[in-house]
Amino acid sequence: MTRRSNLGDLISAEGPTITWPSDWAPTIRQLVTTTSAGLGQPTNLDSASIEEVLTCPGWWVGQREVDEIGGIPGGLQLHLSRRVARSWLAENLTSAPSVRPLTFAGQALERIARTEGIVGRSLRNMSAAALTELRSELAMMLATLDADWPNRVELEHFLPSGVSTRTRLGRVTLNSDLVDATVGQARQSGDVIEAGATLVSLTLSAPTLTRLEGLGISALLHGLRTGCPPARIVSWNLSTGTGIAGTVDESFVAMWLGRVCEATRRISEIQSWFEPRLHGGEHCQICPMFDMCPSADRSEYAW
Ligand code: SF4
Repeated sequence: MTRRSNLGDLISAEGPTITWPSDWAPTIRQLVTTTSAGLGQPTNLDSASIEEVLTCPGWWVGQREVDEIGGIPGGLQLHLSRRVARSWLAENLTSAPSVRPLTFAGQALERIARTEGIVGRSLRNMSAAALTELRSELAMMLATLDADWPNRVELEHFLPSGVSTRTRLGRVTLNSDLVDATVGQARQSGDVIEAGATLVSLTLSAPTLTRLEGLGISALLHGLRTGCPPARIVSWNLSTGTGIAGTVDESFVAMWLGRVCEATRRISEIQSWFEPRLHGGEHCQICPMFDMCPSADRSEYAW
C-alpha cells in the first residue's frame, strides 16, 4: 500500500511483477457461474451489497428496498465530479487542455442540465448562486487533477473509464462503476500473462484502505474482460488531491472471489426463505432497518 499526494506518481510507482495463468478468466467464470446456480432469482452484486450481506443479511434486504426507491448513488456532488472529470480526461487525452477548467465545467453542467432524469432535474432546480459555486468547485478540481497528473498525455494505453462495468455469470451479475481511468495493459509472457494495468477511482472521500479494497469487484471485472487482473489499484480524492494505491496480488483476488461466492451462498439462503440470523453492530447506525429492527445495536443511543 502506498500513500502519496501526486496521482501521476501513484500510477507510475514500481510494484512487484504479478503473473496469472492464461486460463485464469475461464476458470473464474466457471467457478462463479457454478456457485450462482443456487440462487432462486437473478441477483446483482457490487462491493457495497457484498459488504452488506456478509455483515448482516437484514441490512442487505433493507438496502434493496431503499435502492428500489431510487436516488443518485453516492450523491449528486460525487456523481457530477466523476462525470465531469471523466469528460475532462477524455477530451484532453493526447494534448494539453484547450479550454480553461472554469469554461469546461460550465459547459459540462449546461449539457448535463439539459438531460432527462434525476441528475438533470437536480441541476435545473438549483439556484444560480449554488450553480456558480458548484461550477467553481468542479473547475478547481479539474485544475488540481491536471497538476497532480501532468504526465498522462504521454501514456500509451489510457482509457477514461473501466474496461467493463458489469458481467453476467450464471444467475449473478457483478457490477462496479468505480473506475474512472485505466492505464497500461497486461503482457503475454510464455504460458503466463503479466499484469500491467492500473485502475484509478476518483472519489471525494478520504483515501483509506477500505475504499481501496472496495475496488475488488472492479479488479475482477477487468480480469474477466481482458483475461488478466490489473496490476494495481488507485483511489484518488479529487477535492484534497491525495490518494492511496495497492498491488492486486493473488491473495487480494482470492479474497474477493471468496466474498463473491459466500455472498452468493447467503443470498440464495435468503431467497429460499431461510430465516437469516441478524448481526447487530456499529453498522446498524447506517442500516435502513435500524428503527424497526429488534436486533439493532442501540448502545450508542442509550441516553
Ligand atoms: S439494524 Fe443491524 S441487526 Fe438489524 S438488520 Fe440492520 S444491520 Fe442487521
